[in-house]
Amino acid sequence: MARFIGGDWSEELRIFQLAEEPETTGRIGSERRMTNEEHSPIVEDGHPALEMIAAEVPHGADVTDIIRTMRYAQSSHPRSCVGLAANQIGETVRIILIVTDTFDGAIINPVYVRHGKTLKHSREGCISFPGFDQKMIRHEIVEIQGYNEDWQPVRYKLKRFLAFVAQHEMDHLDGFTLKNPRPGTFVSETRAA
Ligand SMILES: [Zn+2]
Repeated sequence: MARFIGGDWSEELRIFQLAEEPETTGRIGSERRMTNEEHSPIVEDGHPALEMIAAEVPHGADVTDIIRTMRYAQSSHPRSCVGLAANQIGETVRIILIVTDTFDGAIINPVYVRHGKTLKHSREGCISFPGFDQKMIRHEIVEIQGYNEDWQPVRYKLKRFLAFVAQHEMDHLDGFTLKNPRPGTFVSETRAA
């Protein structure tokens, strides 16, 4: 992982970051289930796609249907789902979707460019694991790049909640979930403060 290079992040961060929040609000997803669960495209605990490493999308490929399904899945959980990885609709391709008050977009083939040194705790849920949440360790600031839905290059510096969401969704692309967390991102219950 590239080392974080210091500098003034504030200009670009202003566009995307939420107002400063207490760490406890870094919640991603919730235990709330859809009422018409049988129609949800979301795959849940035990589905093999959640454990698989997603494949890079060939440049320029038509992923309209996948992103449309992801948006449908996200909007079906309007209060609780701020992010989604394609694995969660059973498509093992590297696409994430983030939808918050301050950010709305799909990112194709996202990769980390760099991250800040500061680590924060983030209590996270996941719509693929209803009723389960986990205390995670996340970088406070991450910079990621990839492509938007029109295959234009994009690069975002994300802070706090948005950074936590991005890291959660990027983990999904590598087959890591709250129940099978990426090494080093998990706070065991015995160590939890
Ligand atoms: Zn998740």
